[in-house]
Amino acid sequence: MTPTRSEIETAGLVLAKIATADQWAAKPDAAMAITWAECFAVHGLQRPDLMQAVVELYADTTRDKANRTIPADVIRHARRIRQARMEREKATGQIERAALSPDRQAILDCPLCDELGWIDAGDGAVVRCDHSRQIGGAA
Ligand SMILES: [Zn+2]
Repeated sequence: MTPTRSEIETAGLVLAKIATADQWAAKPDAAMAITWAECFAVHGLQRPDLMQAVVELYADTTRDKANRTIPADVIRHARRIRQARMEREKATGQIERAALSPDRQAILDCPLCDELGWIDAGDGAVVRCDHSRQIGGAA
């Protein structure tokens, strides 16, 4: 599974944030960002939850400081953050927009595509929407 450009960018931001919290962390590079993005994509995690996960990970006073940070550490925290948010949203019936990725927000704001960002192009074909609000503009 190839991560999207946005997912790789998110992983790069996560790695950069880790580097600001951990002076012994590996210097982030493009290959690392791709691998971390692949790991995050397995769990469908989005940027706001992942960024908050880095904060929680490094704020965890019980964490063994000798351990290097691997994608699974961030994933564990991000999943818990996402779960807590989903329970809040279920209780209040309101989506927390700030927790959505830019891609998700664009899809919600777009009148053309379905909830996964696809448009019916006719003849049974579907195309990825670019949210330009022009019928047929995705061609
Ligand atoms: Zn759209």
